[in-house]
Amino acid sequence: SLKGKTAVVTGSTSGIGLAVARGLARDGANVVLNGFGKSQDIEAAREAIEREFGVRAIHSPADMTRPDEIDAMVALAAETFGSVDVLVNNAGVQFVSPVEEFPREKWDLIIAINLSSAFHAMKAAIPHMKKAGWGRIIQTASAHSIVASPFKSAYVAAKHGIVGLSKAAALELAKDKITVNCISPGYVWTPLVEAQIPDTMKARGLTKEQVMNDVLLAAQPTKEFVTVEQVAALAAFLCSDAASQVTGANFSMDGGWTAQ
Ligand code: NAD
Repeated sequence: SLKGKTAVVTGSTSGIGLAVARGLARDGANVVLNGFGKSQDIEAAREAIEREFGVRAIHSPADMTRPDEIDAMVALAAETFGSVDVLVNNAGVQFVSPVEEFPREKWDLIIAINLSSAFHAMKAAIPHMKKAGWGRIIQTASAHSIVASPFKSAYVAAKHGIVGLSKAAALELAKDKITVNCISPGYVWTPLVEAQIPDTMKARGLTKEQVMNDVLLAAQPTKEFVTVEQVAALAAFLCSDAASQVTGANFSMDGGWTAQ
């Protein structure tokens, strides 16, 4: 149980991050939500966590491109709840373009949000975990931490990079009861993915089934999406005592994508 512990989940106002935050709250953790969105939606998600799971939840609006705001998010967690025990670096964005046309500012943005923010948050959170003598750091990486796809250079670089960052930190923290691991989903069914389907159907003249199987799930042998609840369940396992000897690992949850 995570009762009395504090979990900070970046990019948790939607999709995978929100499901992970809800899963950790279900296990008893007080949670710090983070991310953008309509204030009434964020408040509804925050309030639902408190009501459904009997924990406390707060929202930090920290922008993951800003190291000072990342520090403030971790400080807010420690001030509000007295500790920072679980850190899930999940915020992420995508941009698709050939390398030679890739806008420099998009490269910098993706590296900042998908990679550097994890470093800044770890730098701020690890002293709190060391003080408590326990900690769990989890990164939402991707199948693109293991294999590449064309036109996703910044995303693939950031996701490969976060695995290296995690391995180095896992070794540094091996004797401190702080584990550092990555979860690498394939295609996950999120509102974002769902919203792309009608446009792709129109643009390519395909049926919904063709878009799902031949476009979105082309690389995923099971031809099924991962669910956000499945990712959350793996994150909850990594926070459990059963996972105390799991560190420096990268867990695929990709319907067989990276086995090919
Ligand atoms: P999403 O778009 O639903 O959620 C992204 C979250 O990050 C949102 O809460 C958003 O507000 C937040 N965010 C974006 N920019 C931010 C910034 N500058 N500062 C703070 N928060 C910011 O996406 P998702 O699909 O849930 O993705 C979450 C993570 O999972 C990402 O790291 C993504 O790369 C990874 N991932 C997703 C899939 C998939 O198929 N959906 C597959 C593999 C990996």
